[in-house]
Amino acid sequence: MQYISTRDRSHSCSAAQAIAQGLAEDGGLLTPAYLPRLPGKALDELKNMSYQQRAVYVMKFFLDEFSVKELNEFSSAAYGPEKFDTPAVAPVRALDKDTFCLELWHGPTCAFKDMALQMLPHLLTGSLAKLEEERTVCILVATSGDTGKGALEGFKDVDHTKILVFYPKDGVSAVQQLQMVTQEGGNVGVCSVVGNFDDAQTGVKKIFSDAKLREELGKRGYLLSSANSINWGRVLPQIVYYISAYCDLLRDERIQPGQEVNVCVPTGNFGNILAAYYAKEMGVPFKHFICASNSNNVLTDFIRTGVYDRNRAFYNTSSPSMDILVSSNLERLLLSMTQDGDEVRSYMSQLAASGTYQVSDKVRESLQKQFSGYFCDDAGTEQTIAKIYKKFDYLIDPHTAVGFDALEQYRKETGDDTPTIVASTASPFKFCNSVLSALGVKDQKEGLDILDQLSEVTGLPAPAPLAGLRGKSVRFEDCVEKDHMLDAVQKMLG
Ligand SMILES: *Cc1c(COP(=O)(O)O)cnc(C)c1O
Repeated sequence: MQYISTRDRSHSCSAAQAIAQGLAEDGGLLTPAYLPRLPGKALDELKNMSYQQRAVYVMKFFLDEFSVKELNEFSSAAYGPEKFDTPAVAPVRALDKDTFCLELWHGPTCAFKDMALQMLPHLLTGSLAKLEEERTVCILVATSGDTGKGALEGFKDVDHTKILVFYPKDGVSAVQQLQMVTQEGGNVGVCSVVGNFDDAQTGVKKIFSDAKLREELGKRGYLLSSANSINWGRVLPQIVYYISAYCDLLRDERIQPGQEVNVCVPTGNFGNILAAYYAKEMGVPFKHFICASNSNNVLTDFIRTGVYDRNRAFYNTSSPSMDILVSSNLERLLLSMTQDGDEVRSYMSQLAASGTYQVSDKVRESLQKQFSGYFCDDAGTEQTIAKIYKKFDYLIDPHTAVGFDALEQYRKETGDDTPTIVASTASPFKFCNSVLSALGVKDQKEGLDILDQLSEVTGLPAPAPLAGLRGKSVRFEDCVEKDHMLDAVQKMLG
């Protein structure tokens, strides 16, 4: 399998190179040259496999340099019982006969990022070994909250790696911040940035595109890489759980073979929903994608009008991991819909220059045929948490609630009653304040006591990795201006 840049189809490399490099030299995203089709019997075979086996089966199509034996090792290590609190790894919960919740938060950091970030270190170190790369890989991450912790957990004490995470100073929840600043491991660093997620992400991208810096670091024995969702090694493990969810529905006879299913995804950087789209391109009978946003509704407008416009107010919402105005992975969808790197490059340079671009009628039509966009503000998010809890006795986090609200809007507007998988992206215990408010609890406990409070109110246990934060000491307190992120990198590398 060859990988190409979204901005230049003629620039191609191997899977190992794509994963090691993270981003193409021209600033584009490294992406498979084509999407493999699943063989006719694949879903039937996958139906009876474990999650770990499904992951190997799916990933093998994209990673021909890796043997099945290697992938088996990666998969058992990434999705084993020490890491995930359920053998199903990504279980599907039926709320009613047409509504299924794909729970993606059973890993070590209680958010869906674990699904990819438990796998990425194996893919990355495996790729570097294949490339006979001996330098230490230095991973820089910009996070809106969950990626940072997920990446730190995935990479902690992995040989030949160092990892530095930047998060927006006032843009993550208290639990998220505590998860990061107490991170253990000898090769990790965490630093807050004065600014929002986009500032942090822009800063990281700037460091990556600095050729002189790369050269200097190279001489010192370091290779820069990314664990952000632009890395192919992040997107690929996400395709697995959509295929897995469809297989679960088949296995449990919730749907018939070949039956169409919609997918609804609370969306930020567009990585998660892109993986669902890729699963469809590979042959899974997904019909329509519902792209759910919070008040940062740049994608809702884009899907409805074909105009992407980041020139708008930025809101800190109760679903902070979706507080994003530049959805980087959208670029891969644009390549898939245009098959034209020049066209994608032109959109992206307009975005960089003026913060906006308008896609061609052809792209807009194909986008609207497969995607619908809806958004939900914080008040709607709370109402949805309360509604789902009351109706199904099922507790969801604010991000997942944005998804359920969008699904309700979509069903009302279109009357489409196709069975739908809603991606549930975080444990409600990561966002206790919002969840308790939604349940009408005004007098809220401070610090980690709020975990117990949510347990008392709902009768649900707090996930072990969150309860275990109690008593851990803060290791990282650095904070930098957005123009000084490089200083933090230099400090970390010594
Ligand atoms: C990262 C994240 C999202 C957004 O996912 P994207 O792949 O960036 O679209 C949604 N919910 C939670 C809880 C997240 O951590």
